[in-house]
Amino acid sequence: MKLTNHVYGQWLEGRGEGTALVDPVTGERLASVSSEGIDLGRALAFARDSGGTALRAMSYEARAAKLAAIAEVLAANRADYFDISLRNSGATEGDAAFDVDGAIFTLKAYARSGKALGAARHLKEGARVALARTDAFQGQHFLTPLTGVAIFINAFNFPAWGLWEKAAPALLAGVPVLVKPATPTAWLAQRMVADVVAAGILPAGALSIVCGGARDLLDHVGECDVVSFTGSADTAARIRTHPAVVAQSVRVNIEADSVNAAILGPDAQPGSAEFDLAVKEIVREMTIKSGQKCTAIRRVLAPAGVARALAAAVAEKLAGCTVGNPRSPGVRMGPLVSRAQQAAARAGLALLVSECETVFGGGGGFAPVDADPAVSAFFPPTLLFCGEGPAGCHVHDVEVFGPVATVLPYTDTAQAIALARRGRGSLVASVYSADADFVGALVPAIADLHGRVMVVDAAVGSQHTGHGNVMPGCLHGGPGRAGGGEELGGLRALALYHRRFVVQGGPAVLDALARDAADAALLGA
Ligand code: NAP
Repeated sequence: MKLTNHVYGQWLEGRGEGTALVDPVTGERLASVSSEGIDLGRALAFARDSGGTALRAMSYEARAAKLAAIAEVLAANRADYFDISLRNSGATEGDAAFDVDGAIFTLKAYARSGKALGAARHLKEGARVALARTDAFQGQHFLTPLTGVAIFINAFNFPAWGLWEKAAPALLAGVPVLVKPATPTAWLAQRMVADVVAAGILPAGALSIVCGGARDLLDHVGECDVVSFTGSADTAARIRTHPAVVAQSVRVNIEADSVNAAILGPDAQPGSAEFDLAVKEIVREMTIKSGQKCTAIRRVLAPAGVARALAAAVAEKLAGCTVGNPRSPGVRMGPLVSRAQQAAARAGLALLVSECETVFGGGGGFAPVDADPAVSAFFPPTLLFCGEGPAGCHVHDVEVFGPVATVLPYTDTAQAIALARRGRGSLVASVYSADADFVGALVPAIADLHGRVMVVDAAVGSQHTGHGNVMPGCLHGGPGRAGGGEELGGLRALALYHRRFVVQGGPAVLDALARDAADAALLGA
């Protein structure tokens, strides 16, 4: 089976043999993808001219209704998506739910919140600016939807959520979408797009998909397009500096990798609720999707007197996690997504092990349940301990994209802050403490290097939404090595797909332009 591309209103097969998609448990070849022979310049032009024009002719609330209809189609096909996730990613049911249900949940959230923008077609921002002695000449800021394409170049770990968490705000804004999913797991995104296209929900050109290499895609970007990239920092740097992107000042949003931290406060002593909540969350983060989450906990900062007990408690729970073929009863963690990712994780772990002690896992004697290690892509849950404190280096730099975390002891609040900041920009940090002085000192001191900080104590208990779980109403993104991008945050995400401009003129003109506009303050509501 070769997955087809949906471009210029047609389903087209790419030329040649293509690249194989493989079951990471059995090594079975499942499908192939190719974008060879597809006219990517024409694909973008069709999306702009046909899809964009038709979407912008609708109001925000009409487009919000389209999102609700998409969510319904995806929910109706959920069982098929779980099956594809199992075969193409080795996903357990929980892993598949994280991706597929996360996508549906996010679409529904935007369908609901988008209604608030009503029948408007653009947004009015703030009060009028006085520019003359009288009211005869004033300024008014507006936000207008972009007339280009939202081009999504996505990572392999969230083929469903990664597509729809970006597509929901783009389509709501009236901007057509062209997605290029990561090759190893492209099947799920392609199948979802096929289902939505078949349902006839969106106008022609509003949703396109290119499977396989990006080829010359970025050569054809225009000044009103947006490139939204999720993936590694190396690819991000290539995209940011692409000549056409630079020459036309194309807006680029980057979600890259990150070495996120969990931080225990001085009060999170063994036996405390905060200690237990931290242990539970660290184990969950290491094992969900086999640690292949950009938000996963990679570093665990703990008071020096607690760090060993914490490592022992996490190791004890990891020992109860059965790793193997998700089709086998009792298996809780599946493989990495490919043998290439397995090799990359092994190389990363070798760097970490050069300066850390292995508390649990690491590879020796590891045998996945009901799978052949010679063809599969499993990786053992591995917990490390870095007693070096601030001298350690790789642990703050190397993101092992798998079930690996490192415990780092700290001596005081200043050192905890310094260690957290050595991640040089992260998507999220979670703090386990009810000590108001500690939290009050720590959070502002790490805030400029983190997109999100989650603080958990006994009163929050199990009601928190999770260190690695990205909620549609809250900002997702992080500075520095995390890419510097911003996604979600409710309707705030629409700003990426609008251009701010100011009109200067008399009150009659400004009144006429404002008639069709919703208040941009709703984006932050
Ligand atoms: P990747 O190798 O950088 O690939 C990401 C995407 O870029 C893929 O679709 C890939 O296509 C495409 N690509 C590669 N080279 C390109 C080029 N020269 N021009 C245009 N596109 C190109 O990353 P990955 O291995 O898929 O993803 C894992 C990384 O993503 C991890 O580091 C993780 O932390 C990060 N991530 C971040 C977030 C976040 O929200 N911050 C979310 C998920 C993942 P092909 O697959 O066809 O090569």
